[in-house]
Amino acid sequence: MDLRLEKYAKLLINIGINVQPGQTFVLNCPVDCAEFARMLVREAYAAGAREVVMRWSDQTISRETYLHAADEIFDTFRPWQADQLNTLAREGAAFLSVDSSDPDGMTGVDHSRMTRQSRAFGPAIREYREKQMSDQVQWCVAALPNRAWARKMFPGLPEDEALSRLTEAIYATMRITAENDPVEKWRRHNDALNTRKRLLTEYDFRSIHYINSLGTDLTVELPEGHYWEGGSAVTPGGVSFSANMPTEEIFTAPKRDGVNGRAVSTKPFIIAGEMIPGFAFTFEKGRIVKVEADSARHRELLEAEISIDEGAAYLGEAALVPYDSPISRMDVLFYHTLFDENASCHLAFGASYPTIRGGSGMNGEERLRAGLNSSITHEDFMIGSRDLSIIGLTKDGREIEIFKEGNFAF
Ligand code: ZN
Ligand code: ZN
Repeated sequence: MDLRLEKYAKLLINIGINVQPGQTFVLNCPVDCAEFARMLVREAYAAGAREVVMRWSDQTISRETYLHAADEIFDTFRPWQADQLNTLAREGAAFLSVDSSDPDGMTGVDHSRMTRQSRAFGPAIREYREKQMSDQVQWCVAALPNRAWARKMFPGLPEDEALSRLTEAIYATMRITAENDPVEKWRRHNDALNTRKRLLTEYDFRSIHYINSLGTDLTVELPEGHYWEGGSAVTPGGVSFSANMPTEEIFTAPKRDGVNGRAVSTKPFIIAGEMIPGFAFTFEKGRIVKVEADSARHRELLEAEISIDEGAAYLGEAALVPYDSPISRMDVLFYHTLFDENASCHLAFGASYPTIRGGSGMNGEERLRAGLNSSITHEDFMIGSRDLSIIGLTKDGREIEIFKEGNFAF
């Protein structure tokens, strides 16, 4: 057996959610990953867990439900299902979700059934969601490889080879080797992310300026009181955890009307299963005023994406990822947000996270006035390159080099 799998389990328990002695551990896991689930449970008890609450799932069965169940069930829910999550969150449990789905596993199901279901269930689990989104409980999402996913990523390879490529890729992104201690490695990685995010926040930049040889020349103003987010989070009780494993990014919110210039994409972008290899956005006072793409059809697809609502044509995220980070160096498309969003320096059009002081307590209007963007969409697109330079401009007019030749300058 591959010893790296046990290291992976230990890493998720100790760094991902950081289960504390006496704490309840909630594990969401597909039945296909039962062996891994057992390892996680053993590690959780070894870390002192009080109890493990197991929540199995199966994508094939979910698909059958969406295809064949009675239509009215997607507009209702059973209160006890919501009670379970709300109660566990109130008790201060730690939540780990293992994902191992087929990226195309839901093609052909009526998408509106899925949205109706989350519309019905969403409000009922608001307490759980809010505790999670505001980091009041520890939570973590991570992924395990599977054959369907491997086939999607490496369509030209024999299936076994594709699976082994995906497996190796995941271990590389998780910084797990047969010899090392990944827990120690991630402690150092998180420390580095946390130090940089503190430094960037302290500079309190007025704006940051991106430039590279591909034609990116973009100035992004940052809102008053902004802070940089990323690395590990800390609960009010002082327990640190990593909500996404792996994670490479440090990010903040651009000032909604303060983005000017041109951003050229450096990795493919996917809309409804269609891959757009390259494109560029031009911004004026925050708004995307020009879309360039490799074909007219792709340009139209992008234009439709940024017209979903008013906020979709404005930025919601500016994230920094070194060109030399593991996912970036691999240069493969995972068809999985958890990995692809960490592939490179990126921007997102659509909603911003409330990364300004007091932001999470603000209502929609207050957020807008503070310079944050709101939208029903949030789509990352990659702009990092080997030669990307980013210069920060402080409020007293100093220029600070943030990125030099694709990587952090400090
Ligand atoms: Zn991001
Ligand atoms: Zn994002």
